[in-house]
This record gives sequence, structure tokens and C-alpha cells, in this order.
Amino acid sequence: MKLIKNAQVFSPTSLGQKDVFIAANKIIAIEDDLSHMNNEFTEVIDAHGQILTPGFVDSLVHITGGGGEGGYATRTPEMKVEEAFIGGVTTVIGALGTDAETRSLENLLAKTYGLEEQGLSVYCYTGSYHYPMVSITQSIKRDIMLIEKFIGVGEVAIADHRSSQMSVAEMARVASEARVAGMLSGKKGIVSVHVGDEVAKLSTLTRVIEQSDIPISQFYPTHINRNKALLTAGFNYAKLGGNLDFTTSTTEQIIEQGETPAAKALALALAEGIDVSQLTMSSDGNASLPTFDEHGLLIELQVGRVSSLHQSMVDAVLLHQVPLALALASITQSPADILSLKHKGRIKVGNDADVNLLDAITLSIKRVIAKGQDVTVNCNL
Ligand code: ZN
Repeated sequence: MKLIKNAQVFSPTSLGQKDVFIAANKIIAIEDDLSHMNNEFTEVIDAHGQILTPGFVDSLVHITGGGGEGGYATRTPEMKVEEAFIGGVTTVIGALGTDAETRSLENLLAKTYGLEEQGLSVYCYTGSYHYPMVSITQSIKRDIMLIEKFIGVGEVAIADHRSSQMSVAEMARVASEARVAGMLSGKKGIVSVHVGDEVAKLSTLTRVIEQSDIPISQFYPTHINRNKALLTAGFNYAKLGGNLDFTTSTTEQIIEQGETPAAKALALALAEGIDVSQLTMSSDGNASLPTFDEHGLLIELQVGRVSSLHQSMVDAVLLHQVPLALALASITQSPADILSLKHKGRIKVGNDADVNLLDAITLSIKRVIAKGQDVTVNCNL
């Protein structure tokens, strides 16, 4: 049991100074003073001067590695559990990337189970970048219904030269299969959509919505900050009720080429009047981040970092004046709600005890508790 005293609690909504009591893997009580809960079995943590937040939810990580677009030597490594915990991330959604030939859903599922054993909460997507999609049971519908960890399908690519150029009818079929499987199994059945640089932007999704009764909330498009035109199209898509996800892993060269940093994209979206419940950030962790020279030759390959999620939240607050509660919502409550992760994303009685303590000034991470266990990582990875 843990009694966290005198923290400024952001649920992510600001609750003021509170004590939070944790037993096993659950939040049991949030009150002004819980001193009476202290006994010989309780660890007391004085969090005076610290901010208590939900553990962060990272809705897209290539936990089994990604990349490979510059040849086999450019395949990126698997995510280590410490890479999540060092960035305050306590829930991760794993996905395959561009390569579903040498990487498999079986491997993704095994990695998901492994990370769970190490204290992280992990879910994943069946399907793949390309259509027709890979699955374990020969059906994405059966995968979502029968395999607990599969909460949706993706990341399926559109508007990208690496995509399979899915038609509107194909996308509609995938979305309805995921949706029905989700309805029957009590999951969201979300369709995670990688959006590339092509001019089509989000039109495949808007046409599905125009031509069918599939709700816009079934889709979860990501990389919306990758260029200015897509960001503008994203704002229009959100005004129809759609969700937008901004990618936090980046490089200086990618920013120079027109990507808007995720923190700034979040600030711009909020300034457009888009509700934070539709706005999230994810790290795209362990994806490859290639740097090319002026002749287009690969000169360096960096790897996306899960810890960029926390840094982007900090940047949103300190550089772009986004209120802390809203910046936090984009990496806690909003992704948990979009994905229907019922016990995640909020400091609330009965929820999983996924808790971060942050320095109140710098917002640096002081302590990470995942499913009730202290998993704070003090080393620099
Ligand atoms: Zn992607």
C-alpha cells in the first residue's frame, strides 16, 4: 500500500492538493487528508511541491521494432520496458509497422505479454500497414473478438507511397469488421490509421464517412503534424468530429522539412477550438527516423523514443502556453477514452494505480508507479 501525501493532483483536471491512497494495483481513495489510512504496511510518500498525474498512455509504439525502409540494416530494435517507464509511460499500444513480412503479429503478441509481465500495461492492434491485412486467425474480426490484447486494427497506411493504396470500399470494410468485432467483445475496435505525405491526405476516411454509417470516431489517424497541409486538413477533419493524433518522435531535419512539432500542433489545434477529447499525442516509438543528404542518400538513422511523449507534453506547457490539464489530457484521458481503456488515463477511485509524480516547476519525472508498483528509472538510457 502507498499513501502519497500533499500532491497537486491533476486527474488530468486540477483537483488541488490531495492525498492519494493506493492498494495493490488500484487507486482506493483521493481525499484532502488520508493520514488515518497510514499503518505499518503503508509506504508514505511526501509529494509536497510535486504534481501527481495519471501514468501516460502512448497510443502508438512499434514495440517489436519498425523501420527497415533503408534495407535490412535499418530495421530498428524492440522497445525495452525501461524506455517507457523513464518517460512516465505506463500504458502502451503496440503495432506492426511498414514491414509485416519479416515481423509478425505472433511476435507482437508475445512482446505484449512480456512487457505486461514487466509491469507495463500493453494492448496491441491486429492487422497491418497493408491491405489485405495479416491476422492470427485469418480474420481481423476473429482476432479482435478472441484475443484479449487486440483492441483494434492498424496501423493501416493511407496517402503514403509505402501504403497499399486502399480503396474507399476496402477501408470501409476494414472499419466495419473492426467495429462489429469491437461491439461484440466490448472493445472499441478502433482503426489506427497512418497518414502519409500524399495529397489525398484524409480523404479516404472522409469518403468512408460520407458513404456509410460508420462513425468518424471509429478512426484514429496519426502523424497529422507531418506537414502543414495535412495539419490544416486535420483541423477540418476534427471539426467533423474526428480524432487527431500528433507524433512526438522527430529530428531537426524532419522539422526543417515542414513537420510541426507535436507540442505546437496541439497548441494550434486547441486555438482552433478543437476539443482536447479529440486530440492526442503518441511517440511512434521505435519507428525509424532517417536523415538523408541533399542527394537523398541515407546518412543517419535515428530511432523514435517513447520518452519524447513526456518531453512534448512539457514543451506544450512551457513553450506553447498550453494549460497543464489540457497537455496532460492529450497523453492520458483522451487516448484512454478514444481507445475505450476503461481503467486508464485518469486519477480516479477504482482506476488502475498508474501514477506519475512530476516536479511542479520543470515537470521532470520524479517517480513512476505502474499498476501499483514503483518502476521509477533513474538511469539515462
Ligand atoms: Zn506510421
